Amino acid sequence: MNEQLQLLIELQKLDSAILSAKVKIDTIPSKISSEEAPLKNIQTSHESVKQKHTLLEKKKRDKEREIEDINEKIKKLKGRTSEIKTNKEYQAHLREIEKLENDIGSVEDELLSIMESLEESSKLMETGYARAAEEKLRIDAIKNELEKEATKCEDELKKLKEDRKKLTDKIDPEILNLYMNRLKTTQGLAVVEAKNEVCLGCNIHIPPQLFVGIKSNENIITCPQCRRVLYYVRPETDSHISAETNA
Ligand SMILES: [Zn+2]
Repeated sequence: MNEQLQLLIELQKLDSAILSAKVKIDTIPSKISSEEAPLKNIQTSHESVKQKHTLLEKKKRDKEREIEDINEKIKKLKGRTSEIKTNKEYQAHLREIEKLENDIGSVEDELLSIMESLEESSKLMETGYARAAEEKLRIDAIKNELEKEATKCEDELKKLKEDRKKLTDKIDPEILNLYMNRLKTTQGLAVVEAKNEVCLGCNIHIPPQLFVGIKSNENIITCPQCRRVLYYVRPETDSHISAETNA
């Protein structure tokens, strides 16, 4: 095989590997953020549970204060009992106290229901904390793995680039220039196989005479349509047959 063609085939392999390593590295941050999405949902709902809890605590304090105020009023009223002169006044006085005591009863009922809700939201908060912690552990493990993978890819990429440098030093500048131009116009695939008189880069049919030249792998030949550099891989069966024929 033409040495320059062989070098181009190797260069294409390296460039494809470089490209896929770069794609891998680039997708890691989005992989991490998609892993973090469930935790964000948990945190959002946990935050709303916390807000409701704070609101309930405030309601609880309000109700307790309300009860204290009513008790204070009752105490004051009771303190004035000795000042009452008539029976009628006394009856009215007792009714007033009774009404306030009833008020306390209903506020206490409200307080009880608030405390039940508080107990429920405490449980919800605990579950939320536990779920968030569990999820965080899971994500940290995945993140750790992905970061390791990124480092590995970076190392690979570095090595591939070094290999590429060594390889390109051996390629004729004009041929390298042709390759680089093709690489830009073909989204990273400048050297492809030609098989059964078809360019595997653009699938165009290759004229038989041109294909004969490609089959020899002795020259740098480009596809008439996509201009990619073409090479030929001898099928395995061919070599078997020739081996048998030789034998
Ligand atoms: Zn082509």
